[in-house]
Amino acid sequence: MLMLTTKTEKDRKRQKNKNRKVLNKMTKISELYNPITIMSNDPAVENYIDNAKPKPVPKTILCEFCGAERYSRGNITIWGEIAWNQNPIPCTCAKAVELHEQERLEAEAAKEAEARAKEKRLMQEHVNSLIGKSGMGERFRFLQCTFDTYIVENDYSQKIKTATQAYAVNFDKMLPRRGEPLPNKNGMLITGKTGGVGKTHIAAAIANYLLNQGTDVIFMTERNLFGKIQETYGNNMKNSRYSTYDDQQTESQIRHIYETVPLLIIDDLGVEKPSEWTLSMLYTIINERYDRALPTIITTKYDTVNLIKKLTPIGSDTSIAESIVDRLMEMCKSIEIQGDSWRSRL
Ligand SMILES: [Zn+2]
Repeated sequence: MLMLTTKTEKDRKRQKNKNRKVLNKMTKISELYNPITIMSNDPAVENYIDNAKPKPVPKTILCEFCGAERYSRGNITIWGEIAWNQNPIPCTCAKAVELHEQERLEAEAAKEAEARAKEKRLMQEHVNSLIGKSGMGERFRFLQCTFDTYIVENDYSQKIKTATQAYAVNFDKMLPRRGEPLPNKNGMLITGKTGGVGKTHIAAAIANYLLNQGTDVIFMTERNLFGKIQETYGNNMKNSRYSTYDDQQTESQIRHIYETVPLLIIDDLGVEKPSEWTLSMLYTIINERYDRALPTIITTKYDTVNLIKKLTPIGSDTSIAESIVDRLMEMCKSIEIQGDSWRSRL
């Protein structure tokens, strides 16, 4: 058995060596051989035509704009034949150049749209397989929160509704686009002590609106957000010493979704007892979204000073929580709901 294995291994090596020698030889030939090109209107073309099996020379085509003749280019192979490029060389007149540029841009745009669609499809598959649609799951409490079910009681709740609905409708403009300036303050920090005005309702309404439009959104409470990551550690929650390679893979996949989903909503931030682990995880996620200029919505009953306290484990330094809140202030427009008045910098 052992002998057999050894022999196979030897054979494999020998074959590999052989392959390498052949490859080296081919590389040398191609280095020596610099293709010589020839144009289809060159009289010398005749010299390369093998009368026994003549290859057709590409026809001369006239430019559709200026009528100039367009020839094709061929490479003279080491066998003394011409390998023709079947597309004639583009005309250099202004209209032809313009058309070509337009075609190039269209092709580029189509390619980019395709890449975006693929990215979106992958994100959806990922979210569905790892988190379940949007993280809201089947929780009816969240699913029924729409702009239609948001009760407008007075002037300020009307303002909130108008502003957040406009945000949802124009969400496409909140996303970064290549070649365009980064969107400014494309997230929302919804703060306020009172539950009655429905911070969660507003956030969930945005999520439901966008999900119906086919945009990927993760909407989660802090507990669910981190719980989903901790689940990947199996029974040894938070104890990465015992986590397997697969666990780590799933963990990083879930974190990657939080970091790259078009909209991440964290509902009721600051209510869970913090740990060093949740703090650093939150920092990583927020920081990554900041770098990617992706929108994030946070609801919390705490003002920024208290939020920093609530995110910091007892006895720990507040600097990480401060950085998180600083980032959020930079990324988000603030909606502050206090009692029966609200201020917004929308
Ligand atoms: Zn032309």
